[in-house]
Amino acid sequence: MKLPVYLDNHSTTRPDKRVIEAMLPYFNEHYGNPSSQGHPFGWAASSAVESAREIVASFIGAKPEEIIFTSGTTESNNLALKGVALAVGKRNHIITTQVEHPSILNAARFLEKMGYSVTYLPVDRFGMIDLERLENVISDSTLMVSVMTANNEIGTIYPVEEIAVICSKKGVLFHTDAAQAIGRMEFDLNRIQADLVSFSAHKNYGPKGIGALFIRRKSPRLKLTPLFHGGGQEKELRSGTLNTPAIAGFAKCLEISRLEMESENKRIKALRDRLQEGIFRELDGIYLNGHPEKRLINNLNISIKNVNIDRLLGELRDIAVSTGSACASGSPEGSHVLRAIGLENDLLRASIRFGLGRLNTEEEIDYTISRVAGAVKILRDKGIRD
Ligand SMILES: *Cc1c(COP(=O)(O)O)cnc(C)c1O
Repeated sequence: MKLPVYLDNHSTTRPDKRVIEAMLPYFNEHYGNPSSQGHPFGWAASSAVESAREIVASFIGAKPEEIIFTSGTTESNNLALKGVALAVGKRNHIITTQVEHPSILNAARFLEKMGYSVTYLPVDRFGMIDLERLENVISDSTLMVSVMTANNEIGTIYPVEEIAVICSKKGVLFHTDAAQAIGRMEFDLNRIQADLVSFSAHKNYGPKGIGALFIRRKSPRLKLTPLFHGGGQEKELRSGTLNTPAIAGFAKCLEISRLEMESENKRIKALRDRLQEGIFRELDGIYLNGHPEKRLINNLNISIKNVNIDRLLGELRDIAVSTGSACASGSPEGSHVLRAIGLENDLLRASIRFGLGRLNTEEEIDYTISRVAGAVKILRDKGIRD
């Protein structure tokens, strides 16, 4: 077993070797600009981009013309929120939740400054929103609802299929940030009638810096104002030379998921359950954050009572995890998600997020259980609490 053990797969994943292989020809040989349509270098690159677009689209049950390549979910979320808000005249109300990724929350705050009004739906202690409440806050001025498919901190999975039904009934757009869901669970846009979907390759063993925004084709055509102005790539919605190697890698990681995700997710869920059971068996004063069942198969977020979390992490340097306090990049308030589910200060700070992935082994999980249990017991015995 190699140390440190990597258990931070909600932050990013290790690119699969097969993905890296698939990218190399687009650095070494087919380095043309996909927009250069006058010579074979450009043709090779654009044909790679278009076949990748088909693979990416089909993975989520979309059509190729509904996929815009971006630099990742942050950009896709910004394009979805600002792009739609700026393009649509009259309606000025957006609904989202208190537990979204900062790329939604900060884009929404920006729009508030521009004069839009935003409702941030609260969540219950499992991180779940109330659908009746959602339906009730939709008004004639509501433009869009944005609710993530699965939460990146506590793993809670939202009923996006039902939310899409509510939105379509009320005649408002529905966007979902599916960064954590793609590859971890079924996600089929034939069932989920979302209008806009954001996701990234690097949360699913692909390269960083590439992602997509799905924009459903419907009539009348959904209008967006681009964030970048330039050469007019991606149907004028995302100017800038396409990142061909990353796009090829994006397609490859989804191809792998298409073939392997079912069996892989079973295996990862078994490891996650083993980790959860092990920690709860060895220690008392452990609290599970997130929904007990409607939760990503690779997520375990716990709070640990009566222990100084910084001292604990100091003891656990051979295990790569993330904490509630570090999650919000060291902000003194701690995690906005853990605050939204109602955790008090001591439990809010004393949280650890484990994110399991493709490469984890049973041996690593057993090692993690014994290291966490051992370190917590030592600190508690010494009375090092907070
Ligand atoms: C990682 C993540 C993002 C940001 O993705 P980038 O690829 O870093 O832009 C947005 N939303 C969620 C839910 C995420 O997990």
